[in-house]
Amino acid sequence: MVNEKRWNPANIKKHEASDESDAYKNNLSYKDMSVCKNCRNIYHNKRWVKDNKIYNSLLKKKEDINYTICPACLKIRTKFYNGVVELSGNFLFEHKSDILNLINNTVERAGYIDPLEKIENIEENEKEKIIKIYTTSEDLAQRIGRNIEKAYKGEVNYSFSERDLLLRVYWKREL
Ligand SMILES: [Zn+2]
Repeated sequence: MVNEKRWNPANIKKHEASDESDAYKNNLSYKDMSVCKNCRNIYHNKRWVKDNKIYNSLLKKKEDINYTICPACLKIRTKFYNGVVELSGNFLFEHKSDILNLINNTVERAGYIDPLEKIENIEENEKEKIIKIYTTSEDLAQRIGRNIEKAYKGEVNYSFSERDLLLRVYWKREL
């Protein structure tokens, strides 16, 4: 049973702080300077960073690199996600490429701050006029919803499941 409650965007700060209940970050321990073999994120000073300088310096001693898989890539591999953005309505496919560009920009900006914020998968159903975007963090899903609403108006709703740490964002625009 999923205990869903209304998501209040004002609470997003609180939920950023709930990382400690994120099993993917907590139950795994990484050696300093471990490198994700999938996305080259680097674990350094107890956090994940994207840093080409560090990466290039590690490459000088290639045989010593401790390869691992970062929590974000692990979620992608195991199809575990913390956010789903569901876009729908007639407006969507008429402006699909612009909307997808906006989403990509949002993800890119989020990645500078936290490289564990990634899109896992995008499902398009043109017949039903629905696009679903799965994300590794609820914060990223929330930001995608907010940016689309800001740029294209429409109607946005949020629903958060505390138990699953899963935020569902619904955006719809018909005309
Ligand atoms: Zn990774």
